[in-house]
Amino acid sequence: MTTRTPGVSTQCIHAGESLDANGGIHPPLYNHSTFGFRRTQDVLDVVEGRAQGNLYTRYGLNPTIRAVEAKLAALEGGELAWAFSSGMAAESATFLAYCKAGDHMICIGDVYGGTFELLGSNLPSLGITTTFLLGKDVDRLPDVIEPNTRVVFFETPTNPNMEVLDIERISRVARERGALTVVDNTFATPINQSPLRLGADIVVHSTTKYTGGHSDLTGGAVIGPKRLLEPIWGWRKNLGQMMAPEVAFLLARSLRTLAVRVRAHNATGMFVAERLARHPRVRRTNYPGLSSSAGYEVARRQMRGSGGMVSFVFDGDAGATAAVVDRLRLFTIAPSLGGVESLVTQPITTTHHGVSPEDRARRGIEDGMVRLSCGLEDAEDLWADLEAALG
Ligand code: PLP
Repeated sequence: MTTRTPGVSTQCIHAGESLDANGGIHPPLYNHSTFGFRRTQDVLDVVEGRAQGNLYTRYGLNPTIRAVEAKLAALEGGELAWAFSSGMAAESATFLAYCKAGDHMICIGDVYGGTFELLGSNLPSLGITTTFLLGKDVDRLPDVIEPNTRVVFFETPTNPNMEVLDIERISRVARERGALTVVDNTFATPINQSPLRLGADIVVHSTTKYTGGHSDLTGGAVIGPKRLLEPIWGWRKNLGQMMAPEVAFLLARSLRTLAVRVRAHNATGMFVAERLARHPRVRRTNYPGLSSSAGYEVARRQMRGSGGMVSFVFDGDAGATAAVVDRLRLFTIAPSLGGVESLVTQPITTTHHGVSPEDRARRGIEDGMVRLSCGLEDAEDLWADLEAALG
């Protein structure tokens, strides 16, 4: 037997897999809500944690859910993974597990609009406050960490500016001050970036995006060491945030092709970004793989590929930019990302519609900004579509 540590493509296919009782080569879909026993002692062994049995799906004690969790944990290099009904469910359970009334969080850089709302509106009503630090002000992190700061949270690359934040450095500062670092690895995926290996404590995902990869499921995940995941379990169970077994089955199917899909997204993202950067009607192109981008050096250190997300600022106002978006044929207007099909959005109309114009201006989310999720179509076809739309 080989002692070689399996590579990430091998993990995508083999981690969490086993032959089922009938020789089925993948764990089957157990869509059952509950699992039966013949002896009370056997139930107690599971309930009291002496045996790893199946019990009740909302608890996550379901073989289809466990199988996908084992695969997610292996891919991120974490001890455990918990699956959730959405990315927002994964984030909210994590924050609630670590922050109580009177506690404080720090959120660095741009984050998904829903996360802004959760941190800026929902959690303050429970007495949990957040300081928002712009990515360019990350050097101020030691000054804004308070004695009651429990969590430092960020995405990298960020949405929609594609800013790259230094995971190793931020995690070190947070740890020195006694705060946990939670990284949203949705854009990069475990193929392009491994936050836990760079010092982050917990990774969260919207599995709705690249990990699901086909725009046909909604889910989330939290991954990390057992001691840090255990406090999150009860929140997921009692807020009823479990991933459905049907979704877990579909997600496991998708994860088997994650490595090949993401490498193709990387190649197309770079192809499109390089051409956008040279286009006369494009004022700025944001992509971590471009040597002209501010985050290039950090990206080279912490990322293995730059992904399929590219944003750019069109040289025109909101209306002219909407007209560019409307002329696209292969890119469909939609607020999501990470699927096999290319998607486009003008952030001020969707993901950042709810963010105030002042805050958008502070964050460089201009009216002419367009965010592309480059899919798996031929890169030349995508560029031809963009070139025709840009005029
Ligand atoms: N994190 C990122 C980076 C996202 O883009 C999103 C959604 O767009 C989320 C989290 C929330 O995920 P979900 O829609 O699965 O709740």
